[in-house]
Amino acid sequence: MKTLGLLGGMSWESTASYYALINETVKQRLGGLHSARILLNSVDFAEIAELQHADDWQALGERLAQEAARLESAGADCLVLCTNTMHRVADLIESSVSMPLLHIADATGEALRADGVREVGLLGTRFTMQETFYRERLRERFGLNVRLPGAADQERIHRVIYDELCLGRVAEASRAEYLQVIADLQQNGAEAVILGCTEIALLVKQCDTLVPLYDTTHLHAFKAVDFALKPD
Ligand code: GLU
Repeated sequence: MKTLGLLGGMSWESTASYYALINETVKQRLGGLHSARILLNSVDFAEIAELQHADDWQALGERLAQEAARLESAGADCLVLCTNTMHRVADLIESSVSMPLLHIADATGEALRADGVREVGLLGTRFTMQETFYRERLRERFGLNVRLPGAADQERIHRVIYDELCLGRVAEASRAEYLQVIADLQQNGAEAVILGCTEIALLVKQCDTLVPLYDTTHLHAFKAVDFALKPD
């Protein structure tokens, strides 16, 4: 089994989900007492969020590239960057290490394409929704047409991520808001909705709605297990 290098802490609430999902999936696939070989490098999210909101992506890229290199020298065989937003600097990180980066948008795009989805809604941080790094990758590599919530809804979605979910707060009122936005996206033509932030599944689950949801944390964790168990 290969060793997964998890770069997490963004936030640790979702890194805990990754840790559980990866280990549960390895247990399901291999049985018995099997569990995943994992190296975890977990950063202080306050420092990261401050640089994000100051728009200093160069500093963020350099910082995460250093953290990824530490995982590689410790023996990681691949990098799992446990956040959608920080894939904005995936190119810089990738060019600083020789191990592969398992891109979260590719894990998501592959699942959507396999299910024949073409029109998809996207929920995530303001950075993931508004900037092009995520949407364009989905369009170029997987032929997906990405639909976004309206501007006011985008702000609410973003605020709930940083002010609630990354602090471990799960509020009923926020769940209702998210479900309304998901319903609106479907009304406007989305066949499915991407939970494009690794904390959203803490708030909204498939059993809450009939709209098909694609949770990036689950899909990314499954991709990581596929990598770990793939024979050489
Ligand atoms: N975990 C989140 C994501 O998937 C947001 C926190 C961050 O900015 O990294 O985008």
